[in-house]
Amino acid sequence: MYSVRRWSVRHAGGLETFYGAFERVFVALDPVWKWLGYDRVEKPVAVLEKVVKGFLFDCQMCGQCALSSTGMSCSMNCPKNLRNGPCGGVRANGNCEVKPDMRCVWVEAFEGSERMREGKRAIRIVQIAVDRRLQGKSSWLKVARDKSQSQALEKA
Ligand code: SF4
Repeated sequence: MYSVRRWSVRHAGGLETFYGAFERVFVALDPVWKWLGYDRVEKPVAVLEKVVKGFLFDCQMCGQCALSSTGMSCSMNCPKNLRNGPCGGVRANGNCEVKPDMRCVWVEAFEGSERMREGKRAIRIVQIAVDRRLQGKSSWLKVARDKSQSQALEKA
């Protein structure tokens, strides 16, 4: 929902703190995900993620979430799906050239990033091209799997 999406950007700092704690718990649960089977939990977790993030961010379930680097403004709501900043068509009032009634998601992203502890650094991170094979998959589980694997490698 558009108004909720904009609320999330206005509260990007609080959401950053909440997500940090949530992510630590989710990654710590890696042994549980492994025991249950990552593939087996994929569908129910993806459904839950879609409901929660769909409500808060109009999440499009790209499967490779960049919200922490985009001021809690989902860049997949850009009609051009731009992942690394706005196109040249932002209107003088900050709205999108394709959807004139919508604020440019990247104008929102810069505003949201100003409210986050790590936002100003994170928004400068270049995002890799979207991997469409991950569409519809859970970003939460991807983060849990990727981070627990790299933590295990660091310990080895
Ligand atoms: S970046 Fe991807 S996973 Fe994150 S909110 Fe947007 S569509 Fe959803």
